[in-house]
Amino acid sequence: MTSAVDPDPAKPSNFLRHVIESDLEQGRYADRRWGGSPGDAQLHARGMNDPAKVRLRFPPEPNGYLHIGHAKSIWLNFELAKAYGGVCHLRFDDTNPEREEQEYVEAIRDAVKWLGYEPALADDPARPGVVVAHEYFASDYFDFMYRAAEYLIGAGLAYVDEQSAEEIRLARGDFNTPGTDSPFRNRSAAENLERFRAMRDGQLPDGAAVLRARIDMASPNINLRDPALYRIRRATHHNTGDTWCIYPMYTYAHPIEDALEQITHSICTLEFEDQRPFYDWLLDRLAEGGLIASPHPRQYEFARLNVTHVITSKRRLRQLVEEGHVEGWDDPRMPTLAGLRRRGYTPEALKLFCERSGVTKSGGWIDYVSLEAALRDTLDPVAPRAMAVLDPVRLVMTNWDEVMGAGFVDDCSAPVHPHHADWGKRSFKIGREVWIERSDYEDVQPKGFFRLFPGNKVRLKYGHVVECIGATRDAEGRLVEVQARLVPDTKSGTPGADAVKVKGNITWVALADAVPAEIRLYERLFAAPQPGSEALEQELNPRSLVTSQGYVQTWLAAEALSQPIQVERHGYFSVVRDNGGLVLIRAATLRDSWTP
Ligand code: ATP
Ligand code: MG
Repeated sequence: MTSAVDPDPAKPSNFLRHVIESDLEQGRYADRRWGGSPGDAQLHARGMNDPAKVRLRFPPEPNGYLHIGHAKSIWLNFELAKAYGGVCHLRFDDTNPEREEQEYVEAIRDAVKWLGYEPALADDPARPGVVVAHEYFASDYFDFMYRAAEYLIGAGLAYVDEQSAEEIRLARGDFNTPGTDSPFRNRSAAENLERFRAMRDGQLPDGAAVLRARIDMASPNINLRDPALYRIRRATHHNTGDTWCIYPMYTYAHPIEDALEQITHSICTLEFEDQRPFYDWLLDRLAEGGLIASPHPRQYEFARLNVTHVITSKRRLRQLVEEGHVEGWDDPRMPTLAGLRRRGYTPEALKLFCERSGVTKSGGWIDYVSLEAALRDTLDPVAPRAMAVLDPVRLVMTNWDEVMGAGFVDDCSAPVHPHHADWGKRSFKIGREVWIERSDYEDVQPKGFFRLFPGNKVRLKYGHVVECIGATRDAEGRLVEVQARLVPDTKSGTPGADAVKVKGNITWVALADAVPAEIRLYERLFAAPQPGSEALEQELNPRSLVTSQGYVQTWLAAEALSQPIQVERHGYFSVVRDNGGLVLIRAATLRDSWTP
C-alpha cells in the first residue's frame, strides 16, 4: 500500500475498501482536471483544495425522515472517507420540487449530526480564505444542469420529444422488444434548442414535452433507450421558488451533482446498477465537452439494508404517520433515526449494527434480533443499573415492626454498574411495604418457579430475605397483596447475609422510596417478518406498545439521565419526562424473548 492513510486493520474489509485502495494506489484522481468556464471552476473548486482526496457523499432526498437504511449509507460513506483521509459531503438531493420540505432538511441535518458525523468543510465563497462547514444542495446546480443540457442538444446528444407520456412509454419496448425511434428524434440541434428554451420559458404546458438523451432505442439496457433528462413541472421549489418550470430528472441530475462536487466514489444501492451505464455515458459526454473534470466519479453499488420486522420505504413510513398507526415520525417504534433515538438507541449501537450487517453485493434480510443485540452489546458495559417495578403489587412484611422497629426504614445500596466499582453506588430505602412484580407471586409453585409462593424464601435483591406466608385476592380473583415474614439478620452485605440460602432473587421498590412512572413497553412494530407486501393493518403487531403504571426509586427520578439505563431483569430503558411525569421507554429486553 502506497496510500498515505492506512485503514484500520481491525475493521473488516469489503469490496468498496478494495476499490478505494486500488484507486489510491494508482493515483486515479491525483491529477484531476476540468476544462470548464471560470464560473464552473468556482463551483468546482468550492472546498476542493485537494481534488485528489477520497471524496464521498451522502445524498438524501429531503422528502421524509432518515431511517435505519439511511444510517447504513451514512455510516458507510462517512467511515470510508475517514478511513482514507477523505471527506464526505452531506448533499440534499432536492431536484424534485413537489415532495420536498424544509422540515425534512432540518431533520436530516440533525440525524447526521446525532450519529456523530461532520459533513465536509468548504471555502466560504463570500469570505475568501475562510473555511466553513458546508452543506450541498443539488438545486444550487440547476443553472449548470441547464447549460449542460443545452450543450448536449448542441452536440446532437439530446432532443425535445413532444409525444405524450403514453406514446413514449409504448415506444420504449421491453426486455424482449427493442424500442422504436420517436418522430422527434431527428430534429436539428437548432430546432431542439428553440423548443427546449420554449420549455424553460413556460411556453409549453406541463407534460407537453420532455428533453431526452439521444443514445440508442435498441439498447438491451432499457435505461439507455433515450432516457428523459428534463420535464416541465410548474411547482414552487423550496430553494429556487418559481425560477424554474422545468426540472431535471434524478438520473440526469445525480451524476452531475457528483461530478461538480468532484466526488471520487459514488456509492449507491443495487437498484441503481442498471443506471450505471447512463451515469458513465452522461459524464463521459460532459467531460468530452469540457464541462466537468476528468476522470469523473464512478458509481458503485452495494446491497441495501433490509431488517426483518422493519419497513424502510419512506412512502410506507409516511403512510404509518398519516394514517395514525404511530404517533409521528419520531414514535419510538419507528425505524427512523428520530424514533430509534427516542427509543433509547445510541449512535454507537447503530454504528455497530451497520458494521456487523456487512457491505456486500448480494441482498438479504438482517434479523431484527441483531439490531437489538447491537444495542445490548453497546449498552451493557456502560448503562447504569436501576431497579423498577413495572406491574406492581404490594408485599407486606408482617413482622417488620417487631424485628426492625415501627416506622423504621433501612438503607440499602448497590453498585451503579457491576463492573465499574469506581462509578459508585446507588442508595435506596427498604421498609415494611415494598412494590414487587405481580408475576413474582404464585399461589401454587409452578415447575421451576423459585420466587414467591407460600412457604418459600426469596431475597429482595440488595435487601433482606423474606419468607412468603400468603396473599390476598379481590372478589375477581385479582392479586392485591402478598404477605411475607422478614428473616432477621439477612440483609445483603451484612455478616448474616449468606446464612440463609435462597434460589430466588426479586427486584422491588419500597413504598417509602417510590416515585410513580409510566412504563411504555415497546415491541417490534410489525409482526410480519418481511413487512411491506400486504396491507399494513395485516402486518402490524397489535401489541407493539403496552403501557402500565409502575414505580422507580427516588434516586433514579432525581437523576438527569442522558443515556439509557438497565432496569435489572427488565431490559434497557430511556428515562424521560413527559408533561412533568416520569416515563420509562423500553428500548430492548435483556435477552431476545420475541414470540409472534
Ligand atoms: P426514495 O428514493 O424512495 O425517496 P430512498 O430511501 O432511496 O427513498 P434517498 O433520500 O434517496 O431515499 O436515500 C439517500 C441515500 O440513502 C441513497 O444513497 C440511498 O441509496 C441510501 N439508502 C436508502 N435506503 C437504504 C437502505 N435500506 N440501505 C442502504 N442505503 C440506503
Ligand atoms: Mg432514492
